Amino acid sequence: MAVKITDLCISCGSCIDECPVSAIVDDDDNPTGEGIYYVYSDKCVECVGYNEMPACATACPTEGCIVWSLRDATSRDDISDANRNDTVPVM
Ligand code: SF4
Ligand code: SF4
Repeated sequence: MAVKITDLCISCGSCIDECPVSAIVDDDDNPTGEGIYYVYSDKCVECVGYNEMPACATACPTEGCIVWSLRDATSRDDISDANRNDTVPVM
């Protein structure tokens, strides 16, 4: 499971310190080279066990910037990788 930051990111920095598992890096450390913040999918736990909603998305001022896929799942724990398409805005 993981959220994804899209190119709507304005690199404001509001999300990075909110992540309980240090999954977010800034634009300088983005491994893709894009000038936006980046979430390591192997670290992100979608805040399961930490917060009711992904803390990064709660902190983000840019609507639709952070995406995931909930589809028909009732909880984050139930979402399999096969059911994710990283297109649904978290907030
Ligand atoms: S959803 Fe939670 S764990 Fe994942 S990057 Fe955002 S703050 Fe970190
Ligand atoms: S809070 Fe949103 S806009 Fe700001 S750096 Fe994080 S993802 Fe980008």
